[in-house]
Amino acid sequence: MRALLANPRGFCAGVERAIEIVERALESHGAPIYVHHEVVHNKFVVNSLKEKGAIFVEEINDVPLGKVVIFSAHGVSEAVRQQANKLGAIVYDATCPLVTKVHKEVAHKQKQKYKVILIGHKGHPEVEGTLGQSVAGANVELVETLADVDKLNLDNKRLAYTTQTTLSIDDTQQIVNALQVKFPDIKAPQKEDICYATQNRQNAVKTLMQDADVLLVLGSNNSSNSNRLREIAEKMQKNAYLIDDVGEIQQSWLIGVDTIGITAGASAPEILVQEVVNYLRAHGTNEIIEMNGVEENTHFAIPKPLRQIPK
Ligand code: SF4
Repeated sequence: MRALLANPRGFCAGVERAIEIVERALESHGAPIYVHHEVVHNKFVVNSLKEKGAIFVEEINDVPLGKVVIFSAHGVSEAVRQQANKLGAIVYDATCPLVTKVHKEVAHKQKQKYKVILIGHKGHPEVEGTLGQSVAGANVELVETLADVDKLNLDNKRLAYTTQTTLSIDDTQQIVNALQVKFPDIKAPQKEDICYATQNRQNAVKTLMQDADVLLVLGSNNSSNSNRLREIAEKMQKNAYLIDDVGEIQQSWLIGVDTIGITAGASAPEILVQEVVNYLRAHGTNEIIEMNGVEENTHFAIPKPLRQIPK
């Protein structure tokens, strides 16, 4: 058996920045510090930060008065920001700058009196945060499927759309096409909202799965971009498994497999991939091949007050 490693895979610039913010805030302020929602959707990362003294809360009101609070990479609504201020919190914002870009787009379009249609997954924290950029709470409408587009009954002259950053490129294009057929004047975002990391990892899996029989995706269940990677392989009629770590691999998945593909979602660290590689070597894989791929050079600066603090 041989294994092909997707390239690129794993950590994106937004995730690296978010983790660095939590680590430096811990170093600067000492434990405990509070993190609103899982800073990134990965069990391994969250557990490591818990061990260092981060406390993860789902509700901002669960943070005691005057404490350090970090907003997760997925971003937060205006209501959460305001509530953190009321609590006298020292806030560090780990929202990925590419999510902030979407928030700004939504706010800008609202000022221009557009109704914004957000393509995204209901209940995902990024979507909650983006919906929560609506000043009046009524000018952003969520669509998740083609059926949702069908049901839209809008007579607004000024319509615009935006998307969650971690969607399937192909599924989203279908929804955008349907929106454009239904509302020919709908405005597109100035620049693609699905982020570079999501696009690169999806394209890498498409390439990889031309040669692989099975795909292992390192990533947690609640990671949107990891789930989209699994779905790509499934759409290519291949078996694909989303696993948190090597311990979840089942021997039966590898029976009769000649080539296994491996990738990792944008919030999964490389150490988890290497543990899988070691496992496969120990179970009959004699060839490990790093695929060629797009080189990523994106880097996001951390907030100024934390820059002098060592990790
Ligand atoms: S997946 Fe994209 S939007 Fe999300 S944190 Fe990474 S770079 Fe930012």
